Amino acid sequence: MAKRIGLLGGTFDPVHIGHLRSALEVADSLGLDELRLTPSARPPHRDTPQVSALDRLAMVKCAVAGVSPLVVDDRELKRDKPSYTIDTLEQMRAEMAADDQLFLLLGWDAFCGLPTWHRWEELLQHCHILVLQRPDADSEPPDALRNLLAARSVSDPLALQGPGGHIAFVWQTPLAVSATQIRQLLASGKSVRFLVPDAVLAYIDAHGLYRGPN
Ligand code: ATP
Repeated sequence: MAKRIGLLGGTFDPVHIGHLRSALEVADSLGLDELRLTPSARPPHRDTPQVSALDRLAMVKCAVAGVSPLVVDDRELKRDKPSYTIDTLEQMRAEMAADDQLFLLLGWDAFCGLPTWHRWEELLQHCHILVLQRPDADSEPPDALRNLLAARSVSDPLALQGPGGHIAFVWQTPLAVSATQIRQLLASGKSVRFLVPDAVLAYIDAHGLYRGPN
């Protein structure tokens, strides 16, 4: 039987319920065997994360412990170069059977930034892309993505066939939570309880992360 594997990359600075609930709902609705949360080491498109890669990884581990089929994949942290998704997809593909399905999950904001990604036009050779609706983002897709969407999008994510090549939009419980908001709350001494799992909050408190001015 072909396996169905999902991949959600991110800075996870820190991981929060927006990531986790989306990941779980997608995994459930598509019947994924595994959904890998993959923290990036040196994200090419954004500022250096506020806390170390090891702390970000540890928080994702706390968040998914015992929450099947969510797992952590730390391969990007082992690479001594920027975290390009195309490299991760190529590596994962090399470990999978040819007919296994790979689904790359991207929030709407991340999807809109796709044309700036390294070798972005090759991504669909390795996976399907699932675009997660994000309630706090309502922009139009950039022009560079219009042709791709016209050629490759399908309306029903459950109808995605084969190992990769198509794009589908998935609707999940809208949670307008961002890591930026969580860092700001913590920096101003406010609570982030219920925005992150309790185990993540315990880790943040134990290590004094994000407190005080940046
Ligand atoms: P920041 O506020 O620091 O930019 P973030 O909350 O967007 O962080 P990332 O780690 O950059 O978190 O996001 C990883 C992936 O998860 C991206 O594809 C992003 O679009 C998606 N994502 C983040 N938050 C949500 C959310 N609340 N709902 C759906 N998808 C989300």
